[in-house]
Amino acid sequence: MPKPPFGPRPDRRPGPAPAGRKRPSHRPEQVAPDRTTPDVAPDGLPQVSLVRRGVERWQAGHPWIYRADLNGDPALEGGEVVRVVDGRGWFLGKAFYSKQSKISLRWLSYEDVPVDVDFFRQRLALADAMRQRALPGETTYRVVHGEADLLPGLVVDRYGDCVSVQFLIPGTEQRKAMFVELLTELYKPRAIVNRSDVGVRALEGLPQEKGVLTGSLPGPVAYDEGLVRVRADLLEGQKTGSFLDQRENHVMASQYAFGEALDCFSYVGGFALQLATRAKSVTAVEISDVAAAQLRANAAANKLSNVDVVVANAFDYLRDALDEGKRFDTIVLDPPSFAKNKDAIAGALRGYKEINLRAIQLLRPGGYLISASCTYHIDEQGFEDMLASAAADAKRRVQIVEKRGAGKDHPVLLNLRETRYLKCFVLRVL
Ligand code: SAH
Repeated sequence: MPKPPFGPRPDRRPGPAPAGRKRPSHRPEQVAPDRTTPDVAPDGLPQVSLVRRGVERWQAGHPWIYRADLNGDPALEGGEVVRVVDGRGWFLGKAFYSKQSKISLRWLSYEDVPVDVDFFRQRLALADAMRQRALPGETTYRVVHGEADLLPGLVVDRYGDCVSVQFLIPGTEQRKAMFVELLTELYKPRAIVNRSDVGVRALEGLPQEKGVLTGSLPGPVAYDEGLVRVRADLLEGQKTGSFLDQRENHVMASQYAFGEALDCFSYVGGFALQLATRAKSVTAVEISDVAAAQLRANAAANKLSNVDVVVANAFDYLRDALDEGKRFDTIVLDPPSFAKNKDAIAGALRGYKEINLRAIQLLRPGGYLISASCTYHIDEQGFEDMLASAAADAKRRVQIVEKRGAGKDHPVLLNLRETRYLKCFVLRVL
C-alpha cells in the first residue's frame, strides 16, 4: 500500500545536492529560465518545475498546482504523468498535467515510484478497502471520490453489479481503457457506464460524453436504503444516476419524520420515500417531470401510498403554501448547488435563506427541518449563519440536533476544502 502522502519522509531526492539536505523552500528559490521544451527525467517522464509559491503549496499539502506556479509553459499536450521538481531540480512528486485548465498539476504521488497500471490498481484497492470497512456488506457506494482518494479527476460509483464512472481531466480521460480493465478486474460488473457528461470537462477542453463502456445495462438499477428500495437510471439519471452522497442522510431522515411531511427538490425520492415510512403523508416537490415520474414509480414499488408528488418550482410552492396557511411537521430541503463560482455566493445565500425561512415558518412547534446544501463555495459556518438569520427573521427558536456531511464513502481531504462540500443540518423548530 502506498504510504500516506504527507507524512514525514526521508530525503531521497536524486540530484547533485548532498544527502541530508533540508527541504528547499526556506531558501531563496533558484528560478530556472523559461523553457518551452520540458526536461526529460531519467525515468522517461517529462519534467516540470515549480516556482517557489508552487513549492509552498506542495508543502502545505494542497493537491493542485496552478499554471502561474509553473516555471515556464511546458510543451506538453495534456494528460501526461509528469515528474515535478523545484527550481533546483529536487524531486517533489508525480502529477497529471493539464494543458487547458488553470489547474495545471494534480498530484498523484509524493514518492518516486512508477505510475503504471499497478499503481492505479493499488489506488483503486486502497479506495475500495475503506468502503468495505466503513460500510460492511454494502455494494452501492462511491468507490473513488477524486482527489480525496488520491485519484484526481476520477469519480467511480458502484451500484451493485453496475459501475458508473466520470473522467474529468485529460489524465483520466486518456486512461479510460485502463480504468475499465481495472474496474472489471475488481468488480466483474455487468456494465460500466461513462457519465462524463459534465460541464467541468469544458475547463479541460474535453467534450461531454455518455454511454456504456462495457457490458450491457438492461434498465434502471435497484439498491436498498434502509427499508426502501430505490431504482436509479445510470444512463439518463442526474449525476452518475443518483445522489449517493446523501444515502446516509436519507436513512437518518426516516428517524425524525412524523406527521405531515414535505420534501422539496425530491429528485427520484431519496428523502421522500424515507419520510413516507414514518410520516402520515408526504408531499414531494420536484421541478423535473422525468424525476417526478420516477419518484411515483419508486413510491409504488415500495407500496408507499402516502406520497403525493407535485411537479413545481419549490420556491413558488413554499411561498404559496405559506399564503394558503399550510403547516407541516417535517420538512426536507435538498436543493441543487446555487453557486457554481465565488461571485455567485451572495445570491446563493439569499436563495438558501428564502427557502429555509419559509420552511421554518411552515413548521408546527416541535417540527423538524432537515436542510442541506451542496454548494462548496459556502462552508458549514456560512450555512449555519444563514440558518441563524432565517430563524431570527422567522422569530422562531431553533435547535441544532445534528450537523452532518456526505456519507463515509465521500471522504473529505484535509487541505482540500472543496471535498467538504455537503452540509446537512437537522434542526428542530420550537
Ligand atoms: N434530494 C435528492 C437530490 C436532489 S438534487 C436526493 O437526495 O436524492 C436537486 C433536485 O432539485 C433535482 O432533481 C432537480 O431537478 C430539482 N430542482 C432544481 N431546481 C428546482 C426547483 N426550483 N424546484 C424544485 N425542484 C428543483
